[in-house]
Amino acid sequence: ADRPADINIMVDEAVARNAGAEALVCDDTRITYEAMVARIGTLAAGLRDLGVAQGDRVALVMANCPEFVLSLFAVIRLGAIAVPINVREGTPELAHILNDCGAKVLIHDADLSGHLPGDAELPLLRQRISVGGQAPGALAFEDIGAAGHTADPVPVQEEDTAVILYTSGTTGKPKGAMLTHFNIVHSSMHFELAMELGIGDSSLLCVPASHVTGLIATIFTMLRTAGTIVIMRAFEAEAFLQIIARERVSQTLIVPAMYNLVLLRCDLSAYDLSSWRIGGYGGAPMAASTIAELSEKVPTLNLMNAYGATELTSPATILPIGYGVSRADSVGIPVPCGEIRVRDEAGRDLPRNTPGELWIRGPNVVPGYWNNPEKTAAEFHDGYWKSGDVGSMDEEGFITLHDRRKDMIIRGGYNIYSAEIENTLIAHPSVMECAAIGRADPVLGEKLHVFVQTEDPDLTLEVLRDYCKAHLADYKRPDFATFTRDPLPRNANGKIVKRALREMAG
Ligand code: ATP
Repeated sequence: ADRPADINIMVDEAVARNAGAEALVCDDTRITYEAMVARIGTLAAGLRDLGVAQGDRVALVMANCPEFVLSLFAVIRLGAIAVPINVREGTPELAHILNDCGAKVLIHDADLSGHLPGDAELPLLRQRISVGGQAPGALAFEDIGAAGHTADPVPVQEEDTAVILYTSGTTGKPKGAMLTHFNIVHSSMHFELAMELGIGDSSLLCVPASHVTGLIATIFTMLRTAGTIVIMRAFEAEAFLQIIARERVSQTLIVPAMYNLVLLRCDLSAYDLSSWRIGGYGGAPMAASTIAELSEKVPTLNLMNAYGATELTSPATILPIGYGVSRADSVGIPVPCGEIRVRDEAGRDLPRNTPGELWIRGPNVVPGYWNNPEKTAAEFHDGYWKSGDVGSMDEEGFITLHDRRKDMIIRGGYNIYSAEIENTLIAHPSVMECAAIGRADPVLGEKLHVFVQTEDPDLTLEVLRDYCKAHLADYKRPDFATFTRDPLPRNANGKIVKRALREMAG
């Protein structure tokens, strides 16, 4: 039989190629591949002694740290399933996720213990393990596993689930996407290929490791290519540049808001950024002005748009190297063996250059949601994931993303893409951030309402409408505006929660 796509084999091969090189760097901690895999082995043995067996779920609730990576691979080594969860989730959401996946063991930051649900709320949980000190009722991470007592990888089928990731829930209750060994090995190869990665490359982890972007584009991709994972515990613009310069980081894949902050707050010319070759971004559109400014200030940088989702094991399309500026309007081309159809409401294929819903099939598409046949049946069809995103494909196969279907505003029969409005307004010097939503209207169906964060007391709806005149058709000018000095509401992964804005608008 063919050798299955198996994450554990992928890790062993990375170690064989690069045993002496650094696998993990975080603050003053530096761990070689050899040392990392030895600790993964002892940790896995310790978890096995605690009763973790193939197929069991182990939840990881920790901020970015080396222990996250060690735990992730120790769980996978046992053929068990890792369930990374964002530390910023609220206590009720944590209880929902931990019970939904039926976690047997929970590995968490010690200082989070007061925030975690209690034992009475988690009937299926058998054991807590705390990182960075011993929390009440938990074993200390350092005490799990003993030197010389190691676990060999448990052979898996490639369709076995390795990780369950709960989607961030900007649109409803979190659902657990099941990422298989096959999905993860393929997505890691897709990044490796598109970004031309190999030994000597290093990736900076500064988005949450619990989100599909950090997990796949940095952690698994670096393990695939035997590169170095440089870990930032939390993102901070100046530190981001300092670390890139100090560690000679070559690849980042982060959200546009982070690049915006770096440009806003830092003097890039103060750093040697010559190692920084790949500037990936995704999760939300990035303004053309940001792309232009970044590529001017960091000439070595290839800006690479990547369109993906939790259900897509990260990327479904990647902008090829060399197209960063000339095709800044596009999220790129489908990953190898990936297929994207642009379809209408009835599921019929649409011609090129015509916007419709993106239906996505290929080695990166997850088989469905954990323990949730209804949602799986609703969102997956014939191997395709119905993305809910509106996009189009041009003659050359490049995909342009317009909006999420549910964020599109239909005003008097005209479709307005919220992303287009937001990208226009964000270029206004007084607009710090903004979001556009539809507000019910008895005549037009919906009208356009924008929420704007600003510190400028003279910014009014009229000023914005005037500004739009030069850039947008008249029906796309905002009808209502709400101004605030506070940042807009965001979920645990940093995405603006439009559901909350719609409630505020009434
Ligand atoms: P939920 O599915 O519960 O709403 P979420 O959508 O935030 O949560 P993610 O999987 O983190 O969950 O995000 C995927 C979505 O992010 C995509 O469906 C798309 O709408 C948006 N997105 C991803 N990449 C890009 C990109 N490069 N440009 C624009 N939007 C993007």
